[in-house]
Amino acid sequence: MLDAARTRTLALVDGLSGAQWLGPRLAIVNPPLWELGHLGWFQEYWCLRRRPDGTVSGSLLPQADALYDSARVAHDSRWDLPLPDAAATLRYLGDVRAAVDERLMHKRGDPGLHYFAQLSALHEEMHAEALTYTRQTLAYPGPAGVTHGIQGGSCPGDAEIAGGPFQLGAKDDGQFVFDNEKWEHAVDVQPFRMARAAVTNAQFAEFVDAGGYGEQRWWDEPGWAWRSGEGATAPLYWRREAGVWLRRHFDREEILAADEPVIHVNWHEAAAWCRWARRRLPTEAEWEFAAATMPGMPGVKRPYPWGDAAPDTPIANLYGNAGRCVPVGALALGDSAWGIRQMIGNVWEWTADWFRPYPGFVRDPYAEYSEPWFGNHKVLRGGCHATGPGLIRNTWRNFYTPDRRDVFAGFRTCAL
Ligand code: FE
Repeated sequence: MLDAARTRTLALVDGLSGAQWLGPRLAIVNPPLWELGHLGWFQEYWCLRRRPDGTVSGSLLPQADALYDSARVAHDSRWDLPLPDAAATLRYLGDVRAAVDERLMHKRGDPGLHYFAQLSALHEEMHAEALTYTRQTLAYPGPAGVTHGIQGGSCPGDAEIAGGPFQLGAKDDGQFVFDNEKWEHAVDVQPFRMARAAVTNAQFAEFVDAGGYGEQRWWDEPGWAWRSGEGATAPLYWRREAGVWLRRHFDREEILAADEPVIHVNWHEAAAWCRWARRRLPTEAEWEFAAATMPGMPGVKRPYPWGDAAPDTPIANLYGNAGRCVPVGALALGDSAWGIRQMIGNVWEWTADWFRPYPGFVRDPYAEYSEPWFGNHKVLRGGCHATGPGLIRNTWRNFYTPDRRDVFAGFRTCAL
């Protein structure tokens, strides 16, 4: 896991030059040079510096805490810090990794170290996804070495889902899970109908072309306030030329692909589309029920929509597969037992719910992961084409504020 994450990190910063290492000061991205150093700091802090008695030893890098502690270094100050240059930052990452490997060799059976090594690998994978959408935000070239090549059209219609008693959340079976997934608890899911596919570009364009961004009746109050403040008239990166919708994909424009899922829409845009189309977003419980259960087998819950096997290329469009969105009709092998497609991979899916703790929530040692964000972020499920396959599962809860359009998010709907 550590190797896979690091290989990806290095590929993502390979080829950055000069001013690209810092980039513009934006609230939604980090300077890539800062983000790189932060990965080393995080790994060193949790795997090497924290002692059993709660004290913390010094860093290999002088002033590391003043530079890279994300909980303490104000976001808009990260462009002004005396950061080591790229070569020195990469040396720091390499030195930390070597020391972690050494410690893993000597403390092979230490469950604490294993937990924190996994945490640092997962943290690095999450930042890899963030670095990928940063490259999209900043119109840098897309990640190298990926080809599309996955066919599939649309995937219309709804699946009927029986509902019933359900255990929402992760089961305590010894696998790594984050605090916000703990633990499974009983909920009751009413019967519902869920779209077999995410909303496509073509479906979203109908709303745009019908003037949806200009009609207040489709937006709730915070959504309309966002739309008005932003002056939004279409999804981010869309541009109409000679009657054709174009979309910027990293550093180039392409014709909007009708059957690919709409991406880079925020929660407000998803909710407005739903109101216009007389649909609704699924709740978290509905999403997880549709992904994890099987018809006629109450009480059985699977880790992935297709079953128990970890994500593999023909099943889900995660990192290492297409490297971008594929049509919503592709990858039928990954269908859930209810016949719902691409619940994992391609685009993150906004849900109706605010991000809140499950009953009995207890924060994990990395206390800043979940708890500070409860109540003002919306939950997304399922991962996207830039999500590491080792990261995602049916119970995974991602969360962003409802105004974020820069992330790789789309949505799936349910019947009213
Ligand atoms: Fe971080």
